[in-house]
Amino acid sequence: MNGPEIHISVAPELKLFVAAERRGERARVVTDGVSTLGHVVESLGIPLTEVGRLLVDGREVPVAHVPGAGESVEVHAVPRPQPVPGAPLRFLLDVHLGTLARRLRLLGVDAAYEAEDIGDPALAALSAAERRVLLSRDRGLLRRREIWAGAYVYSDRPEEQLRDVLGRFAPRLAPWTRCTACNGELRDADKEAVSELLEHGTQRTYDVFAQCTACDRVYWRGAHHERLEAIVENAVREFGAAEAGLRP
Ligand SMILES: [Zn+2]
Repeated sequence: MNGPEIHISVAPELKLFVAAERRGERARVVTDGVSTLGHVVESLGIPLTEVGRLLVDGREVPVAHVPGAGESVEVHAVPRPQPVPGAPLRFLLDVHLGTLARRLRLLGVDAAYEAEDIGDPALAALSAAERRVLLSRDRGLLRRREIWAGAYVYSDRPEEQLRDVLGRFAPRLAPWTRCTACNGELRDADKEAVSELLEHGTQRTYDVFAQCTACDRVYWRGAHHERLEAIVENAVREFGAAEAGLRP
């Protein structure tokens, strides 16, 4: 490219996407004179799902803006919490985020997940069809035009991934209301109705039951409960109050 030269400053949160030599203040970028600013930002490696306001010489512009010579561009990160208008907030996770999917479900957050790799085009189409925010660590997937909404997951550790998503989207938390195996909603189940699904020892020892309305899986306070309880408590302590404050 040998068109107009512009200067780009990238928000600190977004610098990880950009090549080291462009991470400084006011990196020099030569454009082709016809590409949009959205395209230029993407070509630096930044997924547009992560970009908030774009300022040119201090004035906000849309991604369709075509940069001219000498312009000074600021690329900001998405606001947190990030509003997602147009549908109830729900998610679709790519095949690498199974643990995050189960933890979101544990908190009652609608989190669809296919354990098999259905491929990028199918995932993107599902995001569009069901209006789900696609969560991924794959920048190529997040660049697909057909996705309804998307978000890059910044950490590879499930604890940090959960905090990232809860802090970014502030979903309503409703712990113990969703099946961690299939994302179905749970209903109370009385012991007699589910007794034939349970082993004898389970029947004798435990008496708190819920059942998935989608896959019939039965839940009780079992051996892993303390670990799950800790995940729920931590999430509610940090994000439950903020959520209550956001919704009058
Ligand atoms: Zn289920």
